[in-house]
Amino acid sequence: MAQHSCYLVTGGAGFIGSHLCEALLRLGRQVVVLDNFNSFYDPAIKEENWRQVRATAAAVGAELVQCKGDLRSEADVERAFRSLREPADAAVVHLAAMAGVRPSIADPLYYNDVNINGTLRILEACRTFNVRHISFASSSSVYGNNRKVPFAESDNVDFPISPYAATKKAGELLCHNYHHLYGLSVACLRFFTVYGPRQRPDLAIHKFTQLLAEDRPLPFFGDGTTRRDYTFITDTLQGILGSLDWLAASSAPVYDIFNLGESRTISLNELVDLLGRAIGKTPRLERLPQQPGDVDCTFADISKSREMLGYSPRVEIEEGLAEFVRWYRDWKKND
Ligand code: NAD
Repeated sequence: MAQHSCYLVTGGAGFIGSHLCEALLRLGRQVVVLDNFNSFYDPAIKEENWRQVRATAAAVGAELVQCKGDLRSEADVERAFRSLREPADAAVVHLAAMAGVRPSIADPLYYNDVNINGTLRILEACRTFNVRHISFASSSSVYGNNRKVPFAESDNVDFPISPYAATKKAGELLCHNYHHLYGLSVACLRFFTVYGPRQRPDLAIHKFTQLLAEDRPLPFFGDGTTRRDYTFITDTLQGILGSLDWLAASSAPVYDIFNLGESRTISLNELVDLLGRAIGKTPRLERLPQQPGDVDCTFADISKSREMLGYSPRVEIEEGLAEFVRWYRDWKKND
């Protein structure tokens, strides 16, 4: 698993990034992290994630380099790339971004700047530092309100319904540009709502858990029939590591797009019911209209990822939610 000797993980202090750093460190690889610890959500959460990443590095004796800096700064990005022990045997996992659909509607220029210009900055550095492989965090949101389910990578994604989705699609296009012009090998990974320990507090599972625990009503958008394909973090990690193996195994430059979901969906109504049971509380709902930019359904066709990345998601939603609630309670106890 994971054939490169070193990795640059952008966004390594975040939810998915901190788990990925730990997985790569456990494989004995050098890990360089570029993250600006921004305040999109409480930076103390990122500091805690980072403390755990450092503890793992110390426990397994693998090299971890922190480059606190911004994706959009040439100097910060160069400092991170210069820290890679062997750029020719390195891969980048580009996770840093402004995430979230609704806040992107409030601040589209900022999302554009970080997600598009920042991605371009990383691709430029791959070219100049001769780093040949990159896995890019795209999103299921690029499918917009695709009516055909499940969503396949070959479906048309020309109709994003939020600025965030448009920036992710733009990122995929820029990646293809660098593949075509400079022979960069790229895996664009379309994550489907990821959850699990350390999940971002702005996402529904985390937000609802907190509100239920505090006996407060849940803001409930729409009639509850919207459906999501929720992916447990260990399954997402399996897909990312699979993409790194795929990149390392290809002798010629490659470019492809992969869905990473569970290929199972549940409705918002079912999610709230399951969470209420996992926490032992009856949910009270504050009913609100469906939000512009929110899609009706996400549902991943994962046959291509299964075949090409050996991806095989395992965690059922009931088991994943129980694990999340366990983590949440421990985390709050030590808060
Ligand atoms: P996260 O917000 O926890 O992590 C992103 C990290 O990037 C943060 O630590 C943040 O400080 C950093 N960052 C943001 N802007 C930066 C900048 N300008 N310079 C340097 N660092 C910066 O988010 P996450 O949930 O871990 O998501 C990781 C990636 O996966 C993102 O690209 C996101 O769009 C994508 N994604 C996530 C999900 C999900 O359900 N979590 C779904 C689809 C796609």
